Amino acid sequence: MAQVLPIVKIGTPVLRCRCAEVPLQEIKKGIHQAFIREMIATMHEAAGVGLAANQVAVNKKIIVLECKKNARYPGKEAVPLEVYFNPEITAYSKEQITDWEGCLSIPGYRGLVPRAASIQLEALTPDGKKIEKKFEGFHARILQHEVDHIQGLFYVDRMPDLKSWRHLEAS
Ligand code: ZN
Repeated sequence: MAQVLPIVKIGTPVLRCRCAEVPLQEIKKGIHQAFIREMIATMHEAAGVGLAANQVAVNKKIIVLECKKNARYPGKEAVPLEVYFNPEITAYSKEQITDWEGCLSIPGYRGLVPRAASIQLEALTPDGKKIEKKFEGFHARILQHEVDHIQGLFYVDRMPDLKSWRHLEAS
């Protein structure tokens, strides 16, 4: 079983860093393959739908995502387990969708965030293959949230109106 890593919270400086690219020849090395297993274990343990490397205090452009049936996001479409190195969004649809988002680094809160309905993503897979692919809906939303993380941004930075920001225990 891969180790579950501590998730750092908003205010921790690494979450405001622009993370470093991982060189192609480094991706297949044991250190990175072991790290992505730890990121996946950490995401699963926290019942999250995505995790960026700097959320476990590693300043590298690596993200993982997956949404099975998720209690934190009921009614959302399933997203397969995906791992990306150096992900970059190269195109955004004009159409936007506003929906609720939360973040494992800002536990307990949700806010309404507009996101592009579809995006084009360029990234490297764990076996070092370059992909360029279109994503839409909730899948595209998770990718936009995680790619923001490795650029030092939070969903709250994308909220046009903080009045929707709420704690889950608010009534
Ligand atoms: Zn987050």
